[in-house]
Amino acid sequence: MQGLMQEWPLLAYKVIEHAALNHPNREVISRSVEGGIHRTNYLDVRNRALKVAQGLEKDGCKLGDRIATLAWNTWRHLESWYGIMGIGAIYHTLNPRLFPEQIAWIMNDAEDKMLFVDLTFIPIVEAIADKVPSLEKIIVYCEPENLPESKLNLISYEAWISELDGDFKWHDFDENTAAGMCYTSGTTGDPKGVLYSHRSNILHGLAANQVDMLGLSSRDRLLPVVPMFHANAWSTAFSAPMTGATLIFPGAQMDGASIYEMLTKERATVTAAVPTVWLMLLDHLEKDDGKLPDLERVVIGGAACPRSMIEAFQNKYGVKVCHAWGMTEMSPLGAICTFKPEIDAMDKDAQMDISVKQGHAPFTVEMKITDDENNDLPWDGKTFGRLKVRGPAVAKSYFKGRGKEDFDANGFFDTGDVSTMDEHGYMQITDRSKDVIKSGGEWISTIDLENLAVGHPDVMEAAVIGIPHPKWDERPLLVIVPKEGKSPKPEEILSFMEGKIAKWWMPNGVEFVDEIPHTATGKIQKIDLRKQFSDYRFNK
Ligand code: ADP
Repeated sequence: MQGLMQEWPLLAYKVIEHAALNHPNREVISRSVEGGIHRTNYLDVRNRALKVAQGLEKDGCKLGDRIATLAWNTWRHLESWYGIMGIGAIYHTLNPRLFPEQIAWIMNDAEDKMLFVDLTFIPIVEAIADKVPSLEKIIVYCEPENLPESKLNLISYEAWISELDGDFKWHDFDENTAAGMCYTSGTTGDPKGVLYSHRSNILHGLAANQVDMLGLSSRDRLLPVVPMFHANAWSTAFSAPMTGATLIFPGAQMDGASIYEMLTKERATVTAAVPTVWLMLLDHLEKDDGKLPDLERVVIGGAACPRSMIEAFQNKYGVKVCHAWGMTEMSPLGAICTFKPEIDAMDKDAQMDISVKQGHAPFTVEMKITDDENNDLPWDGKTFGRLKVRGPAVAKSYFKGRGKEDFDANGFFDTGDVSTMDEHGYMQITDRSKDVIKSGGEWISTIDLENLAVGHPDVMEAAVIGIPHPKWDERPLLVIVPKEGKSPKPEEILSFMEGKIAKWWMPNGVEFVDEIPHTATGKIQKIDLRKQFSDYRFNK
């Protein structure tokens, strides 16, 4: 027997329609790439998204076409996503921090038909446009008078949209139709395309809005620093309009001072980004004696959040840290570290031990850890194994069938992360399986060592890599960027770490550098760091 409920396909336009009807005047605020602060609202975003949909159709785009965006977080980017999805085409976010050749490779792989681009990235497009034969039209997010001279045929977005009246009806189709596309950044091989569906984006947005996740409401003012081109914007482009939360977009400026200005002037209550962004903000706050009176919580993920960062936000600025874990393949949120009641009963130190964990799974994410033979491992907080996940917003395959080995017969996706699960259901990442250090048949977590080292007052950033060792196979080398004007000694760093980790985890050496290489998504680029230290050997 079938249930007698209505068929209401989970299509993205329902989200922006809901926001326009129920929260029409709620603001969408952006630092405009052309200068100044731009203010609009959900009603207007919906109306202009309809024009985008109408314009795309007029330009010959149809169901399944890939429409690329190379852009910062702004109102125009948001309305483009909804306009693109509204005709069943696919927004394909490009990461401008990749090399131009990588962007061209990805665009060719996706066969992008049109491109929406911010002024900042025109030089990239000029360098690659003739290498992407599928590309028919380039629309620049700007007023007609700001359109630059170019060898390419560029069209101003505002001029393009002004010729449309928005008299358009959203298209209906199957909810499993592809809606968005994002390539993994290739830190672990060739980039692979992940294809979100309308259904997965909506289910993921709903899951993200659970109180133990982002917990957004119409009273929140959300500043997503995490770019829309990084892992589907961590659901914010869906979960904010679903709840009617105010959106505050940082545009092109993500340095500490600019983020501080947006957080305080626009009174953000929630914000989200990778740890490197928060390092810059905390540095700025310290130098300028800043305060964060409106900010209630900060979501930190994409890379492990060090204990010292959690302590700084919570103890100095009164902002709750929600450590989060996820990946492009998971839409991307997989876990957030909020406290269950049993954690409330613990003492402060034990609570902090929980806060550094990546968190517990929301409904819609099934999680398990296994050994190499796919046997389940216990949730005891000590045993670590391969972290595998399953759910309606988790990839079941990559674009063009790549990476088949990452998916098992039971539909679980191997995240490539190694983790523990504790008795309360909190997951803690030990490492990426490719980064973990194998010493004498045992594993050493580079993340644990890095997080400990950045707790030293003179350390700005730390990275640990394995160096070949004749006796132990591999031993840890700690690479450090000192804080401005500081020059700590290796012994000082090591004695700071002593007693806080097992003796045999202690790094065999400490090296100081001016800069640690980062990936296009702001993570430590261990492949490059290993190359940089490929000839390095310990003398004991
Ligand atoms: P890419 O692999 O392209 O860099 P993702 O953003 O999808 O892009 O990266 C996902 C990976 O980032 C995870 O598999 C994990 O290794 C790492 N990661 C994400 N969040 C955290 C976190 N809170 N702590 C430790 N590692 C994390």
